[in-house]
Amino acid sequence: MKAGRDSRMRVLVTGGAGFLGSFLCERLIEQGHDVICVDNFYTGDKRNIAGLLGKPNFELIRHDVTFPLYVEVDRIFNLACPASPIHYQRDPVQTTKTSVHGAINMLGLAKRVKARILQASTSEVYGDPEVHPQPESYWGRVNPVGPRSCYDEGKRCAETLFFDYHRQHGLDIKVVRIFNTYGPRMHPNDGRVVSNFIVQALRGEPLTIYGDGSQTRSFCYVDDLIEGMLRMMESPAEFVGPVNLGNPGEFTMLQLAEMVICLTGSSSRIEFHPLPQDDPRQRRPDIALAGEVLGWGPETQLGSGLAKTIEFFEETLPPKRAKLSR
Ligand code: NAD
Ligand code: UDP
Repeated sequence: MKAGRDSRMRVLVTGGAGFLGSFLCERLIEQGHDVICVDNFYTGDKRNIAGLLGKPNFELIRHDVTFPLYVEVDRIFNLACPASPIHYQRDPVQTTKTSVHGAINMLGLAKRVKARILQASTSEVYGDPEVHPQPESYWGRVNPVGPRSCYDEGKRCAETLFFDYHRQHGLDIKVVRIFNTYGPRMHPNDGRVVSNFIVQALRGEPLTIYGDGSQTRSFCYVDDLIEGMLRMMESPAEFVGPVNLGNPGEFTMLQLAEMVICLTGSSSRIEFHPLPQDDPRQRRPDIALAGEVLGWGPETQLGSGLAKTIEFFEETLPPKRAKLSR
C-alpha cells in the first residue's frame, strides 16, 4: 500500500544495512515513507542498500545504537544486532550491549519523540525448548551462561525493557519474535545454515552438518517476514505482542542439506562436524496469533525460497581464492 500525503511517515530502521533491514528499508521506501537507516556496519554492508542511496526519501547514518541518537521520527524498527552465531559470539560483550543499551537508547528516543517502536526479537528467547511448537506464552529454556547467552539473554532483556517502558511510560511498543529467516543478501560467510549449505554446494565443497543432522529448524523466506513486520507495526495499538513470525514448515538439517544439493545440482557430499554447545534440538513457530490478529501467514515454500536464494548466490558469490603456496 502506498503512503498518501497524510500517511507518509518518518521511519527509523536500526540495522538497516543488514540482511533483513535492507529489505525492510526497500519496502518502506516503496510505500512512500521517509526512511532513516542507522547502522554501524558491524555485519551490514553498503551494497545491501546501494539501490536506495540516491533516493531523496532515504538517508543513511553511520551510528552505533549503544550511543544515544537524536532524530525526529514517527516509527522505529529496532533491528540493530548481529544475528548469526559466529558474528554475535565474536564480541559477546558488544552483542549484549547492542541489545540492551541499544534498546534503552531507542526506547528513550521513542519516548522523547512519541514514536511507535518495534523490536526485532527472536525465537532464541525460547532457547532449547521443551514445548513444541513454540507459542508466545512459552517462557523458554535458555542457558544464561553459555556461548549463545549474549544473544539470547540480550534479546530477552530487550523484551523486558520494551514491556517496562510500555507499562511504566505508556510507550507504544510492538515486539515480534522472528524465527530463522533466509533469502538473498545473506552474508556468504555468516555461518548460518542456509547460506553455508548453498555456498558450499555451489563451490562443490562438502556440506557441513553439525551433529547428526536430526535437529530441526523452520525457515521463513525474507519477503514473508518483512510483510509480517510491516503488518505488526501498523496493527492496533493495544496489540503489543510478543508475536511469533516464522514459517511452521519444520525440516531437519539433513533434509535441508539434501534439498540444497538437489536444487543446485551439486556433486557435494555431506560431512558431519561436532554439534556446537547449546544448539537447540528443535524449533517450530506456533503462528496462530499472527494469523488471527495480523491476518498474516507465510506464502513461500522452502523449495521456491531456496531457489531464489541460490540464484542470488550464483550471481554474487566471489570465486574462491586459491590458497597461497608457502
Ligand atoms: P544482520 O547481521 O544482517 O543485520 C544486523 C544489522 O545490525 C547489521 O547491518 C549490523 O551492522 C547492524 N548492527 C549491529 N550492531 C549494531 C550497533 N551496535 N549499532 C548499529 N548497527 C548495528 O542480521 P539480520 O538477519 O538482518 O537480523 C536483523 C535483526 O533481526 C536482528 O536484530 C536479529 O537479532 C533479528 N533476527 C533475525 C533472524 C534471522 O533469521 N535473520 C532471526 C531472529 C531475529
Ligand atoms: N548448522 C549446520 N551446519 C552449518 C551451520 C549450521 O548443521 O554449516 C546447524 C546448526 O548447528 C543449527 C542449525 O543448523 O542446528 C541452524 O543454525 P543457524 O546458525 O543457521 O541458526 P540457529 O542455530 O541460530 O537457529
